Amino acid sequence: MIKSFSLRTPKRTCLIDITGDVADAVRDLGVADGTVTVYTPHTTAAVTINESADPDVARDIDLTLRKLIPHAGDYRHTEGNSDAHIKSSLLGCSETVLISDGKLVLGTWQGVFFCEFDGPRMRKVFVASSG
Ligand code: ZN
Repeated sequence: MIKSFSLRTPKRTCLIDITGDVADAVRDLGVADGTVTVYTPHTTAAVTINESADPDVARDIDLTLRKLIPHAGDYRHTEGNSDAHIKSSLLGCSETVLISDGKLVLGTWQGVFFCEFDGPRMRKVFVASSG
């Protein structure tokens, strides 16, 4: 079983907390115990799990990735977004989340983030239960 949701990202790069959307999808899927895969079918975006309590953490991750992998560089890809492709591969397009009693098994400080590296644009996220 698979559910999906869309989001509009507000700028070229940012991390967006999608924990609530993922929890809604898990509820709709009726998963009580097991795992779900949170997957985004884009080559210039990613999904990651990190601290959601302090929004500065997401800001710091975005800023540091922009420093490590600059927008302009010695890239050959003519679309002009090689930095976004590289960041997407580094972070990955999916995360597995454990589900117990219908709830996401996340640490106190953890949240699930959609990572935009070439926005703003409409994006899609799939949440798939195993089996
Ligand atoms: Zn490209």
